[in-house]
Amino acid sequence: MRKPIIVGNWKLNKTIAETLSFIADIELKLHDHADFGVAVPYLALSAAVGAAKHLIISAQNMAFAEHGAYTGEVSVGMLKEVGVKWVVIGHSERRQYFGETDATVNQKVLLAIQHGVTPIVCVGETLAQFDLNQTENVVRTQTAAALSGLTAEQVAHLVIAYEPVWAIGTGKNATKENAQETCAIIRSEVEEHFGRATSEKVRIQYGGSVKPENIQEYLAQPDIDGALIGGASLKVDSFTAIIDALKA
Ligand code: 13P
Repeated sequence: MRKPIIVGNWKLNKTIAETLSFIADIELKLHDHADFGVAVPYLALSAAVGAAKHLIISAQNMAFAEHGAYTGEVSVGMLKEVGVKWVVIGHSERRQYFGETDATVNQKVLLAIQHGVTPIVCVGETLAQFDLNQTENVVRTQTAAALSGLTAEQVAHLVIAYEPVWAIGTGKNATKENAQETCAIIRSEVEEHFGRATSEKVRIQYGGSVKPENIQEYLAQPDIDGALIGGASLKVDSFTAIIDALKA
């Protein structure tokens, strides 16, 4: 049985003060039917790690190199220094606006794991690719590339997030059938490269306009083990409603 994992991705939102206030409220609502976490902006990470007891604190990105002439970047060592144990890698917004490629995603995943930081690896097709029926090809290619060079044991412990780009922040969520079908494809790609036992252990999230009203229908799908949530993770009320929905 895979334990569900729900992570709020705050993107470019929340100051340190807002982060601390959110964490104080949310810590009171957690339960152990699922793992819960938030991916907070870099500057709030240290304070968030200090304040969180049970909530997973994740970075939203990291550099592909450990150090060097990369102005503006933050390394995995710097994340570890402030106690961060999780990192989102390859989010479509990083791919779209900041030149992230399958190759840099793979470099980052390898580096994170080498340092004992658990990646949440994002894959997903754009609207144009969805319309051209290229979803399967895109997610298989992105998954295989991201995980290249890892051992089965390493893959079993990371998290993959399937986020169709057209469903992010648009209110147009994928149907539960679509999301299930694509998460099953991702799991079969993992099986092809790393074997059945690993594919049965790896947790796969769906992300894209997940809300308190639809979280349960996604989690009822056999290959969906959680959610990566943007907008609905920003308010204590809606994130609490999602946490409560997992109690049932
Ligand atoms: P929304 O939940 O706002 O659609 O964002 C999804 C997402 O990108 C999470 O990483």
